[in-house]
Amino acid sequence: MNPNFADLPTTIFEDMSIRARERGAINLGQGFPDAEGPEDVRRAAAEATINGPNQYPPMRGIPALRKAIADHYAHHQDLAIDGDKEVVVTSGATEALAASILGLVRPGDEAIIVQPAYDAYAPLVRQAGGTPRFIRSGPPDWTITRDSLEAAITDKTRVIILNSPHNPTATMLSETELRLLAEVCKTHDLVAICDEVWEHLTFDGRTHKSLMAMSGMEARTVKIGSAGKIFSLTGWKVGWAIAAPPLANVIAKTHQFLTFTTPPNLQAGVAYGLSKNDSYFDDMRADFQRSRDRLSTALSQTGFSILPCAATYFLSVDLEASGIALGDRDFAIRLVEDAGVAVIPISPFYESDPVTSIVRLCFAKGDEMLDQAAERLATARKLFT
Ligand code: PMP
Ligand code: GLN
Repeated sequence: MNPNFADLPTTIFEDMSIRARERGAINLGQGFPDAEGPEDVRRAAAEATINGPNQYPPMRGIPALRKAIADHYAHHQDLAIDGDKEVVVTSGATEALAASILGLVRPGDEAIIVQPAYDAYAPLVRQAGGTPRFIRSGPPDWTITRDSLEAAITDKTRVIILNSPHNPTATMLSETELRLLAEVCKTHDLVAICDEVWEHLTFDGRTHKSLMAMSGMEARTVKIGSAGKIFSLTGWKVGWAIAAPPLANVIAKTHQFLTFTTPPNLQAGVAYGLSKNDSYFDDMRADFQRSRDRLSTALSQTGFSILPCAATYFLSVDLEASGIALGDRDFAIRLVEDAGVAVIPISPFYESDPVTSIVRLCFAKGDEMLDQAAERLATARKLFT
């Protein structure tokens, strides 16, 4: 068997969801909303299912979706993207990551990954025959420094994989970091694979800026997005990779042997959704921000120490600062078993030298569930301190 996959543990998301199901616990672990997603977007997909076409769509995605993606980013992020030549629609951002990493990392290349890192990156780099070179970031700022970047770069470095807004830390790259990253990519001739699936889930008036928007980065950035996150439809698995034609062409060639195409009815639903007016996106952000504040306030009032959350569905609790002497994995396991709340420990997002005192909670849930979870956490805190 292929050790790149055979040796991997079950993902922490699946592990905690299984424990939550077995225990009948509230699941604030794996990141998914408990609502069904916008009805008009689902209706657009339903109509496309009935009216067709339902046969193989074009390999790079239906023209309506590729145009909607280009128009969407022109409007929301001031990016000039050619929907015909620079967009590849994929089955979720996961497939966009796979197609980008397998297509762009050559055997022997090194790829820089910033830890804590989403779990898909390193196994895909290894499967491409490359070697991950890890940079470490930690609380409270989780910043990427020039020193850490320079120390990780060798003459074999080909790619840097970035994630902003960031899962699990809920931070966003600052303008200073974007400038630094653009400079380093240009100096060392690197391609940046930017996982931007959380781009619309930003709070307190923040707006997302892609590394692709920095001067000189258009030709060396792959921008990855996910309709699952934009429309709270995580099961749909419609995503995309956007890149200059030479990169997009290779990503498309890789995509043709991963899935070849993505269901056309769901693509039609997403094409409709991306053209929704600003108020949809503003309201969505406001709703999630309210949920963030509800959970954060409830937890703070009972003595939990919460880290700042600029974006995503996730709040981080600092166990040590909350007076809890358990490591993150032990806490997560005891919490689901003894208190009936599932959360995600942060340490599995590191391959070495992990931060072990932080757990991640998903707040994309209804008020009642958040309140009940906060009550259970308050009771658990008394047991664990
Ligand atoms: N990247 C990050 C950082 C994520 O958080 C997720 C999903 N939570 C993905 C990629 C995968 O997105 P998709 O479900 O569209 O495959
Ligand atoms: N991305 C989701 C999270 O961070 C989970 C995705 C998965 O289960 N692979 O919770």
